[in-house]
Amino acid sequence: MMIQTNQEIQEIQKLILNLKKEKDVTILAHYYQTLEIQEIADFVGDSLELSKIARDHTNTKNIIFAGVLFMAETASILNPVKRVLMPDKQAGCPLASFLNGDTLKIYKDKYPGVPVVVYVNSTAETKAEADVVCTSSNAIKVIQGIQKEYNSKKVLFGPDKNLADHVRLNTNIEIINLPDVGFCYVHNDINKSDAIRAKNDYPNAAVAVHPECKREVRKLADFIGSTKGMYDYVKENPSIVNEFIIGTEIGFVQRLQKDFPNNKIYPMTENFICKDMKRTNLKKILNLLNNLDNDNNIVNVPNSISVKARISLEKMLKYS
Ligand code: SF4
Repeated sequence: MMIQTNQEIQEIQKLILNLKKEKDVTILAHYYQTLEIQEIADFVGDSLELSKIARDHTNTKNIIFAGVLFMAETASILNPVKRVLMPDKQAGCPLASFLNGDTLKIYKDKYPGVPVVVYVNSTAETKAEADVVCTSSNAIKVIQGIQKEYNSKKVLFGPDKNLADHVRLNTNIEIINLPDVGFCYVHNDINKSDAIRAKNDYPNAAVAVHPECKREVRKLADFIGSTKGMYDYVKENPSIVNEFIIGTEIGFVQRLQKDFPNNKIYPMTENFICKDMKRTNLKKILNLLNNLDNDNNIVNVPNSISVKARISLEKMLKYS
């Protein structure tokens, strides 16, 4: 990877800011993007926030999504009249690849009448086969809501086994993993020993982790929540010494360090890096803006899938 100087970064940022105005573009960036990308975005957020923004607050003809494919697909499904583009369409989410529409149909046949909830980190095709979508912010609320609506003791949920376990521990609902094993390699790779090491290094710090972490890590946390949840936790509940250990992707840790300079914010480990999120960079965004008429970077979801997936997504937005 080519290292750029601060001056080079600022020059590219300036070009991007001018071009996005000129070409009627909104840039949405996930918290796991690099800070230099977050700085040129119109909106930065987690999956749920960006889904809502894509639906309600984008007035431009074009949306550039700095994130991974399922996020851009979601923006496109919720905004069928907009052009949604990605700077690098190869940026996927390995967690989403654990579950496809055909596997989901097999589970539906095996468990007739059991409602199906899929995590937003899933393909458009998978969302289209589900009854409702959820994010890490609203998983408990959505699963409780659908269970009540279907009057079912069980709920099928996938593809993240750790988020499923988190919901299971916080409700009385029987959650069936869909498929048996699915996980985010970034969060699942973090072990109890990483959490203990960080706690020993910073004994006064409060620990906040993402629910995609394993149970052994979640058990050692003071707070478990989505990135938005962790952001609010740092904002509203500073520990006595204002120190926090954050158990999620490094881009989000850098964002917290920037927004809360009076607090000490530590990553649980330096290895918390999503290589897929990091495929996007400023040069690719600039290149896309310079070639906006080229359709290669458009994210298209076929209408037959989009219509069904929108119903599952709109249902989530209603519950959350
Ligand atoms: S951090 Fe995990 S869940 Fe998020 S995009 Fe990367 S691989 Fe997917």
